[in-house]
Amino acid sequence: MELRLYDTLSREKRTFVPLDAKSVRMYVCGPTVYDFAHIGNARPVIVFDVLFRLLRHLYGEAHVKYVRNITDVDDKINDRAARDFPGLPLNEAIRNVTEETGRQFHADVDALRCLRPSVEPRATEHIGEMREIIERLVKGGFAYVAEDHVLFSPQAMNAANDGLPRYGALSKRSLDEMIAGARVDVAPYKKDSTDFVLWKPSKPGEPSWPSPSGIKVEGRPGWHIECSAMAWKHLGEQFDIHGGGIDLVFPHHENEVAQTCCAFHQQRMANYWMHNGFLQVESEKMSKSLGNFITIRELLKDWPGEALRLNMLKTHYTSPIDWTMKSLEESARTLDDWYRIAADIEPAKPAASVVEALLDDLNAPQAIAALHGLRGSDVPALAGSLRLLGFLSESAAQWEGRKQQASGIDTKQVESLIAERTAARARKDFAESDRIRDQLATMGVAIKDSKDGTTWEVTR
Ligand code: AMP
Ligand code: ZN
Repeated sequence: MELRLYDTLSREKRTFVPLDAKSVRMYVCGPTVYDFAHIGNARPVIVFDVLFRLLRHLYGEAHVKYVRNITDVDDKINDRAARDFPGLPLNEAIRNVTEETGRQFHADVDALRCLRPSVEPRATEHIGEMREIIERLVKGGFAYVAEDHVLFSPQAMNAANDGLPRYGALSKRSLDEMIAGARVDVAPYKKDSTDFVLWKPSKPGEPSWPSPSGIKVEGRPGWHIECSAMAWKHLGEQFDIHGGGIDLVFPHHENEVAQTCCAFHQQRMANYWMHNGFLQVESEKMSKSLGNFITIRELLKDWPGEALRLNMLKTHYTSPIDWTMKSLEESARTLDDWYRIAADIEPAKPAASVVEALLDDLNAPQAIAALHGLRGSDVPALAGSLRLLGFLSESAAQWEGRKQQASGIDTKQVESLIAERTAARARKDFAESDRIRDQLATMGVAIKDSKDGTTWEVTR
């Protein structure tokens, strides 16, 4: 059985062959820490967590290195810091914003049962690597200094053409068309409209570091160079998988490839480029202006993290997701059932049907269909397979207890109503017994009678 992954660069599903099976290496672009993460941001985190778990299953836990960065230098962070902490010096305000947002992000993705990556590098801790890559690019003739900025020239890259990829190959754009379609208001320090920033001078009060390439004033990095530097530091000049949302293909990933390949004279940066599709809400694009912006934090108030996780995985990662409450309710009910029958069972090995589905370009919907099949045939394998996918992190009792707590249902009241109903049934007062059943139903409690007595559960 081999793993096959869809690669954005070659536009085909290819058999995954790691550069070094003893050290499988994956980089995924992480959050820019200035605000609560929304449910769209959760998608790459969950999708690549499933891939991380699958790779660990295939190659062994000690042989997979997963790097997901934290972007803690960015204009949006500076703006937020100035807005939220107007009394503080900007650098202190920025630290407050990035540290607090970073903590929130971790709490959120932990609740989604995503494993922490092997390394979570911060951009501000890799400025030295960024400067070094920039120096190499300038020396190699791929970048130039202008008005205290350093700019990368895609045209120089394509002119060099010696064992380098072509700029535009990842996003399937032609440089000529980019030049033709350029806006008129190009920054004056750019030689060509397609040049992009590697380094720029900092304004007074903004975070700043000594600049590369003989620039006298202090400055700060552009966004794209951050990922090239962190991937290089932790994974080397070439590695196996690079992932992120589909919106990052251009310009972010195209520019990462350009920087890394030109700095290190490589034909490729990553061997497989994987991109998750976008998430929309109730058939509309999720955006702040439409007001349908849902944070992970808000959803976690009403739903267990595993329900959000399952709901995300019901759609193949490359397709768009339409996030609906109806589907979320179904996901939560499915998990109630799985918890009831499989959480307290000794797990067996994950089922071949589930693993095979995942091996086929992470086909999680098919894996979930296989789980439904196992429910009636092999519960230990169901339990093992669910664990492989990051489910069943609690016992059945913990799951049920949290559900009751979240529903605000008073357990004592439920128990006493059930006792009253049992008494009514004993004296054959079926009208009263039905009335109590209805009362419980309106409270969100379903009851089930069996020869061993009456059990109840919270319906959502
Ligand atoms: P950002 O913090 O905006 O740079 O995004 C962090 C990650 O979330 C990137 O991999 C984005 O591609 C991804 N992302 C952002 N919005 C969505 C969305 N609505 N659906 C899926 N992925 C998204
Ligand atoms: Zn990145």
